[in-house]
Parts: sequence; structure tokens; C-alpha cells
Amino acid sequence: MEAYEIAVIGGGMLGSAIGWGCATRGARVAVLDGGDTALRAARGNFGLVWSQGKGDGMPAYAAWTRASLAAWPALADRISALLGRDCGLRQEGGLNFCLGEAEFEARRAVVNRLHNQGAASLRLLDRKELLELMPGCRLGDAVVGASYEPRDGHTDPLSLLQGFHAGLHALGAAHLPGAEVVRIEPGRPYVIHRADGSRVAAEKIVIACGLGTPRVAAMLGAHIPLRPVRGQNIVTERLPPMLPLPASAIRQTVHGTVQIGVTQEDDGDPTPFTTTAHLAGMAARAIQVLPDLARARAFRAWGALRPMTPDGFPAYAEIEGHPGAFVAVCHSAVTLAAMHAGPLAEGILAGRLPEAVTELHPSRFHVPAH
Ligand SMILES: Cc1cc2nc3c(=O)[nH]c(=O)nc-3n(C[C@H](O)[C@H](O)[C@H](O)COP(=O)(O)OP(=O)(O)OC[C@H]3O[C@@H](n4cnc5c(N)ncnc54)[C@H](O)[C@@H]3O)c2cc1C
Repeated sequence: MEAYEIAVIGGGMLGSAIGWGCATRGARVAVLDGGDTALRAARGNFGLVWSQGKGDGMPAYAAWTRASLAAWPALADRISALLGRDCGLRQEGGLNFCLGEAEFEARRAVVNRLHNQGAASLRLLDRKELLELMPGCRLGDAVVGASYEPRDGHTDPLSLLQGFHAGLHALGAAHLPGAEVVRIEPGRPYVIHRADGSRVAAEKIVIACGLGTPRVAAMLGAHIPLRPVRGQNIVTERLPPMLPLPASAIRQTVHGTVQIGVTQEDDGDPTPFTTTAHLAGMAARAIQVLPDLARARAFRAWGALRPMTPDGFPAYAEIEGHPGAFVAVCHSAVTLAAMHAGPLAEGILAGRLPEAVTELHPSRFHVPAH
């Protein structure tokens, strides 16, 4: 049985970031991942590196998000170096379009509220200001304005995930996909049993399994409440530049494709399907923003499931009664990647989570963790 300093259970966006972050700090790391049929939000997301609207009512999450945005350019440089190509980060500002006066006024209220919670650079732009920001952009007549956050941006999430895996490989860490974890024997070391009969021993473990987290955390007696929230996406053919800045439901990638998203379906169904009604609604709204999209060929549509906590904020903890066993879950692991690979990994190695996440403890859901 191989022995490691840290075993991360879950090789999605969160587990890969934590695993790589620990490996870059010299730890002997294994990342254990599920099989091909596993639900993987990491491979179906929208790619925003985003603070707008994040942490409304939870300043600690807003601050954690802002810290990640500040650290993202350095992360992108490292990921691009690992990949030998641009990982696609463009962090020149992000928009939330408002169609019609009612949406604009509703957005004004959100912006004012977030201002009071420290989002100092978030502001509302009217149509004229929007066109000055993006000269030549052919916006639809229904666009009245947008909220604008200069620190927001987007990236290629599949490149980010691939970069983490390349980094793990380059540092000699073990990346072990293909078999779910089915049992954890507590103790130092923890002994992790996998569905293929193999076992791994580790002094510390991190449970970061996305929607699989409640089941794996329960192996150590921890209750992590999560539900799936579906998001549907459409991607077009490569198109000439038409949208210089990403928006919360529409972005043009560095390759020219336009990604249109993204629903928030909280219906309890744990299946990542697409529906014609949602795809039609998303496409219709995108065409209202950018009328030129009406002629674009749609290449692919997909659904994926976000791991959502009861209040929508991330949760990080060391599990009560199991020193060295940590759990981490969030629905914005692209945005927070720089924190997960940075201060969170550092805290896990030190055996003490960063102070910045103290309020993000799952005990707020009344779980037995400390
Ligand atoms: C439609 C959509 C749009 C999104 N857009 C954005 C966005 O714009 N910006 C942003 O920041 N975030 C976005 N997200 C969220 C982001 O993708 C997730 O936060 C992130 O993928 C969660 O990472 P994770 O590692 O926790 O889960 P996942 O990425 O789902 O990975 C979980 C992993 O755990 C493994 N696993 C599960 N059970 C076990 C087990 N028993 N043993 C071993 N391995 C196991 C699975 O195989 C899987 O690989 C979006 C998500 C969706 C669905």
C-alpha cells in the first residue's frame, strides 16, 4: 500500500487545485478520482472568474473571492507555463447586462447593497457608458445598461483543470482516477479503500468530491448538506470578435466561440440533462444582447450540476474527531482556484485552515465538525 502525506479525494476543480497547491509546497500528494461516469462540474462550467454578486450577505465569502481575483494573474502565469500555452485568463472587467428598465433598476438595488458590503469598484453603466467602454460593439436595442466590475474576468476552465493535472504530474504527485473511494479507516495514517480494491494510506486527507462529498464525508461521520443545481450551456462556432468583455451569461472565448449560459435549475433532479425550453430561452436572451448571434451556428449544448450548499456559500472544515481530515466544497471553484491552490493548501499542510475561511465553516448548517 502506497503512503502519502496528503491524499485528496476528488480530482475535480477543487481537489486538483488543493492537491497541486500542496505538491508545490513539497508535500507527497495523491489525488484519487472517480470513473468516467462521475458527475464533474469541473468539465461543464462557464469559466467566469467572477466577484459580482458573490457573497451577498456573507462578507467573508466576498473577501475570499476578491483575494482570489487579485491572485489569479499569477496563477494564470503558472498554469500557462505548465501547459506551454495561454490558459485563457482575460481579467479586464465583467458585465451583467440589463434588458429593459425594470432589470436596470433591480440591478441598481443589488449594486447599492453590494457597495455597502465592500464591493467598491462595482458600478452601474447606462447604455451610453457601456458603448463607450466597448466601442464598436453591436448591442441590441433592449440593452439598457449593465453592472460592471473591473476586476472580473474569464478563463478556459478545461485548460485550468488540465494545468493542475500537468502540475501534479510534473511534481511527481500520484493522480489516480478510475475508482471511487468506498471506505475510509480513520487514524494516523488514514487508510482509504477504493472500489477497485486498492488502498492508499495518508497522514492527512482532503475530501473534495463535489456532489460526492456528502457520501464520502459521512464515512467519517460528518454531515455536509449539498444539492445539485443544474446549469445548461450552449457554445457556437468561432465568430469574429463581438463581445470584448465577458458577461454573466454570455462570453466570447479567446478562440472566438461564444458561450451562452447558464441556467440555475434548483429542481432536485440529479441529472445533467438539457431541455429545449431552457436552451431556447438562453439563446433568445443572448440574441437580445448581441443580435449578430442570431445567425451563428450552435455547435454543442450541455448540462452540468453545481454542488450547492444550503446558503450557496463555500464550506471548509477539519472534521470533528478526525485531526488531519478536511472537507471542502464550493460552487465557484474556477473563481476561487487561486485561494484553493494558495492559502487553503498552505493551511491544510499546516494543519490549520486560514482565518479567512473561519466563517465559512459548515457548522453553520449544524454539522458535527469543529
Ligand atoms: C453549469 C455550471 C457553470 C459554472 N460556472 C462557473 C463559473 O463561471 N465560475 C466558477 O467559478 N465556477 C463555476 N461553476 C462551478 C465549478 O465548476 C464548481 O465549483 C467546481 O467544478 C466544483 O469543483 P469540485 O472539485 O468540488 O467538484 P467537481 O468538479 O464536480 O469534481 C468532483 C470530483 O470528485 C470525484 N468524486 C466524487 N465522488 C468520489 C469518490 N467517492 N471517490 C473519488 N472521487 C470522487 C468525481 O469523480 C469528480 O471528479 C459552474 C458549474 C456549473 C455546473
